[in-house]
Amino acid sequence: MPARHDGTAPAQGPATASAPVPESPSEAVLPGGEYIRERHDDGRRDMTRPPIPEPLGVPIYDNHTHLEIKDGEAFTYADALRAAEQAGVAGVVQVGGDVESSQWSAALAAQDPRVLAAVAIHPNEAPGYASADTLFDALATIDELAGQPRVRAVGETGLDFFRTGDDGRRAQFESFEAHIDIAKRHGIALQIHDRDAHDDVVETLLRVGAPATTVFHCFSGDEHLARIAAEHGWYLSFAGTVTFSNAKNLHAALAVADRSRILVETDAPFLTPAPFRGRPNSPYLTPLTVRFMAAQLGVDADELASETVENTLRAYGSWG
Ligand SMILES: [Zn+2]
Repeated sequence: MPARHDGTAPAQGPATASAPVPESPSEAVLPGGEYIRERHDDGRRDMTRPPIPEPLGVPIYDNHTHLEIKDGEAFTYADALRAAEQAGVAGVVQVGGDVESSQWSAALAAQDPRVLAAVAIHPNEAPGYASADTLFDALATIDELAGQPRVRAVGETGLDFFRTGDDGRRAQFESFEAHIDIAKRHGIALQIHDRDAHDDVVETLLRVGAPATTVFHCFSGDEHLARIAAEHGWYLSFAGTVTFSNAKNLHAALAVADRSRILVETDAPFLTPAPFRGRPNSPYLTPLTVRFMAAQLGVDADELASETVENTLRAYGSWG
């Protein structure tokens, strides 16, 4: 199977050769094993895991992560969730991007109280399903998974004109609109992946009607898009990219964002926040992004953390 949109490939090695033996009763047996993807390593990254940061004054949540992707040395979902707890990150939204990772995400959420799931066919995967004539079946599986009680979002879906060219756009639009419909029918959130496609994402949401809870995951827009989102009550989920010194568009967006619609995420194992950019990311690093955002906004970090928690629980419901 070729590498996917995000530079991952199917995981290999003994960890997935057979069903893993659970280390404790709380550790789930998941379809495909502990990892089902592996991030491509160009050999030039510093693969040392950043230290566990000081927890904030309130337990927080990582609104978007991919625990099924191996990045460097083994650090399983169980390791990631344990480290997250040590950093005061009480729970995560585990996100799928194809049929297998969506099934994996739903299975983990069903078995682990620290996990809720989002399920979808990623916009860069949709054209492949469409050309294999399996998009319809894949969407039917997503629809079914979206009915599970701990699946609280449909995502990541949306449009990506960066990695997918003109030939794949028709499938992206068809898939995005189908996901919007699934989220609305199940009454759960929509997590949007929008890369170089701001205008078309907004146009599609307004044309077909956005779900009551609509989230721009790894928000990559500017002040203008942040104002549009605020006007419609859409959520902006900020990832480690907001901590990058050259992300002036994100800093401007954060400054005008509606504070009752701000979320925070890692998108791990990608987009590690400063000062650890390029190293493996994991939900335990969420506090770094919250602290950076609070400093940008000139507010107390615990106050911003509490607000993001309130927003998270409103968007996805409770983990407990
Ligand atoms: Zn993601």
